[in-house]
Amino acid sequence: MRRIQDSWFTVTQIDEETFAISEYGHWEKVHSYLLLGKDKAALIDTGLGIDNMKRITDQLTDLPIVVLTTHVHWDHIGSHGEYKEIYVHAEEEDWLINGIEKLSIEQIRKDVARDITIPVPFTFNPDTYTPFTGNPAGIMQDGDEMNIGNRNLVIYHTPGHSPGHISILDESRGYLFTGDVLYDETPVYAFFPTTDPGVLVQSLKKLSGIPNVKKIYGGHNTIGLEPDILEEVKNAMERLEEEDLVRHGTGIHRFERFSVQF
Ligand SMILES: [Zn+2]
Ligand SMILES: [Zn+2]
Repeated sequence: MRRIQDSWFTVTQIDEETFAISEYGHWEKVHSYLLLGKDKAALIDTGLGIDNMKRITDQLTDLPIVVLTTHVHWDHIGSHGEYKEIYVHAEEEDWLINGIEKLSIEQIRKDVARDITIPVPFTFNPDTYTPFTGNPAGIMQDGDEMNIGNRNLVIYHTPGHSPGHISILDESRGYLFTGDVLYDETPVYAFFPTTDPGVLVQSLKKLSGIPNVKKIYGGHNTIGLEPDILEEVKNAMERLEEEDLVRHGTGIHRFERFSVQF
């Protein structure tokens, strides 16, 4: 086991070649994931941008790193500027280059600075905090595959929380990385102007149909959910449709192990 002591990030080793990089000092409890292949490493999201994530990935690998963006929300692209090869879904290429739509910088600065429970690095200034913008090295589409060497990653377009959200299946191990479309504890949300409850429901149904999933890794809260949650997801989505609740403004819908907010 590799142990890394760090003032801001917590590294959890999932297996020999897979790591979660978490930010527990912030209320969002964001996770990014580093997957080591034979030829390359894939970094799924880059966190809040309060501190420098490359400091951590440098300690974990010498491989060239490709960053796979689950979606272009500020809390998942924080350290994008520290990496060269960034991939994003076609539907959010514009947000990556020109900035996130319909969310004011004042709101972002408020959210990044609140409820922080451990010391932040002196380099962090919430008054000037600005989400990453820049050009991607490549565009991802539904069904694309990326092989990082003995490790094949399949891209699933799972919009609804945001238009270009992707989930990633690591076929070699049955790990499904779900970003902000599926996690536990706090509601998965689609109540915001750029969200779409109906589309999110379709995405969750799509995820629930992926075979051979052994573990689910979301962008927030618990690291590693058991795959039988997918059955619950499927039933829950059918129930929401039957009860005509798949609309903005219907509030929080709670199920046994997860919840959604429209
Ligand atoms: Zn998000
Ligand atoms: Zn998020």
